[in-house]
Amino acid sequence: MSFSYEVKEELSRQPSESCCQNAELAALIRMAGTIKIVGGEKKVLVQVQTVHAPTARRVYKLMRKNFQTPVQVAIKRNNFLRDKRLYIISIDMKCCRRFLEEYGIIPEKEHAKLKRAVMNPDSIKNDCCKRAFLRGAFLGGGSVSNPKGPYHMEFVTQDEDMVKILTETINHFGLKSNVVERKNNYMIYLKDGDHISDLLGLMGAHNNLLKYEDVRVLKDMRNSVNRIVNCETANLNKTIDASLRQIESIKYFKENNIFDRLPDKLRQIAELRLQYPDLSLKELGQMMDPVLGKSGVSYRLKKIEEMANKLQSMKGDL
Ligand SMILES: [Zn+2]
Repeated sequence: MSFSYEVKEELSRQPSESCCQNAELAALIRMAGTIKIVGGEKKVLVQVQTVHAPTARRVYKLMRKNFQTPVQVAIKRNNFLRDKRLYIISIDMKCCRRFLEEYGIIPEKEHAKLKRAVMNPDSIKNDCCKRAFLRGAFLGGGSVSNPKGPYHMEFVTQDEDMVKILTETINHFGLKSNVVERKNNYMIYLKDGDHISDLLGLMGAHNNLLKYEDVRVLKDMRNSVNRIVNCETANLNKTIDASLRQIESIKYFKENNIFDRLPDKLRQIAELRLQYPDLSLKELGQMMDPVLGKSGVSYRLKKIEEMANKLQSMKGDL
C-alpha cells in the first residue's frame, strides 16, 4: 500500500466539526467532481469519481450528513485502471445547489457548469475550516511520496481558481508551495520535508506524520554522518596539499643554497615542516621553542611560500 493511500486512509477517518464538513466536501468536489446530465437534461447529477476507497467512503459520509437526499454509489471495474475499482458517488444537484454556489463550484443561477466560478475565501474563514479544505483537496486530488525517497507532495487540479485558493491556504499556514502548469491541468507541489510534514499534521494525518518523521530522522542522521565524513576528508586533503606546497617552497631554498639566508624564525619552522610533513599547523607550533600558535605557524609558512614564489618568478624574468 502506498504512503499516499495510507495518508488518505487516515484522513478519511478524521472527525470534523460541522463548520468544517462543508469546506472539506467543497474541496473534494472541486478536485474530483463532475456534473452529469442524465435523461435529456431532466436530471442533473453531481458526481465524484475516485479510485481510492477511503476517499469514496468520506464523500459518501459527508454527502449523507449534509444533504437531505439519497446518495448513490456505483462501483466500476476498469481494465484501463488495471482492474482497480472506480467509485462513483452521485447526488441530485437540485438538493445541493446552494452549497455548490456558496463554494464557487457553479456560478449562481446558471445551469450546469462546474468549476467556473470564483470561490469566496470567506467560506473557509476559520483555521479549522481551512485545514478541512486542505484535507478535502488532498483526498480528492493529492498525493505524497514516501519520505524514503525525495520529498514531494502534490495536488493536481484543472480548476484555475482552485490553484489560487489552495496556494493561499497553504501560504496562510506559513508553508511554501509552487505551481506548474501542465498540458491539461495544474500541479501545486511542496518539496520541503518540514513543510510536507507540517501539512500532514494540519490536515489531521497525525499517525502518518509520525511515520514520516521517523523516516526523516533516520535519513537525516545518515546524511549528516556522510557530511561529516566528507568534510573531514576534504579538510585532510586541504592540509596535505598545503603541506606539500610548503615543502616544495622550502626545498627551493635548499636546492638553490639560499636556505641559510632565511631569517631564524622562518628557518626553524621550515626545518620542522621538512621533518614532519604530516603534522598539522597546531602540532608544528607546539614543537617550536617557544611554542607558537597556529596562526603564527601559518603566517611564517606562508611567508616562505611567498618568498619562494617571488624568487622563482624573478628567475623566470631573467
Ligand atoms: Zn471549521
